[in-house]
Amino acid sequence: EARASARDLVKVYGSGPTAVRALDGVDVDFARGGLTAIMGPSGSGKSTLMHCMAGLDSPTSGTVVVDGVDISRMSQRRLTALRRTHIGFVFQSYNLVPTLTAAENITLPLDISRTRVDRAWYDEVTAAVGLRDRLHHRPSELSGGQQQRVACARALVSRPSIVFADEPTGNLDSRSAGEVLAFLRRSVDELGQTVVMVTHDPRAASYAHRVVFLADGRIVGELRDPTQQEILETL
Ligand code: ADP
Ligand code: ADP
Repeated sequence: EARASARDLVKVYGSGPTAVRALDGVDVDFARGGLTAIMGPSGSGKSTLMHCMAGLDSPTSGTVVVDGVDISRMSQRRLTALRRTHIGFVFQSYNLVPTLTAAENITLPLDISRTRVDRAWYDEVTAAVGLRDRLHHRPSELSGGQQQRVACARALVSRPSIVFADEPTGNLDSRSAGEVLAFLRRSVDELGQTVVMVTHDPRAASYAHRVVFLADGRIVGELRDPTQQEILETL
């Protein structure tokens, strides 16, 4: 069962002789309960693919279906509502609210969409994130890795259909990166979530069940349960 799918996805930026074909016919399915890494050279279309599939950008042609709903030609208003409940997003730079505690940052999406906290789910997410005694600290009192784990928990708190993470460990040392990746993997294996991340780092990608390789706006390869060595050999 695919949580999100793209069919013949094309994204062209600009027009005329300077137009850039960032996506050139991408077909991909992200199955429920998978952690997928997207890799590829800079400029290969990784961010564009994630943004189109998360409803943050609209494709030039082709379709994106999230949880059975075609979002590719949806109005901005409906898309905003759908993103709040069905799609989580994690950015490289955490984007936490500095004046709120970790716990308040995690429940912020629920406050904004006026959704009740599902206490059992909140407890599962915060237990899995492993921040117990840090939950009442503000971001400035947390390490980078702890802040990114808060951002991941915030992306998961509405129990979305799918979470997209754009270089989630790009700013972190390898130990903190490992803690963030282990949490993302737990959220899939133990909590049943579906996660797609863009990364440049073969070690980060080796946490994934599947690695999809992009080049020049097309999917050029794929590995299942790869080791770091297999990823390095494919890049
Ligand atoms: P990355 O390679 O890490 O994804 P980029 O530096 O390519 O980051 O892009 C950062 C941001 O700038 C993205 O939001 C992307 O959409 C935008 N961007 C990239 N290239 C261009 C461009 N030629 N013109 C305008 N915006 C761009
Ligand atoms: P990646 O994430 O793999 O680095 P991107 O999706 O950011 O790749 O970019 C793919 C191509 O599209 C690049 O050539 C980039 O310069 C271009 N691009 C991305 N965003 C924009 C934009 N907003 N305007 C114009 N060109 C863009």
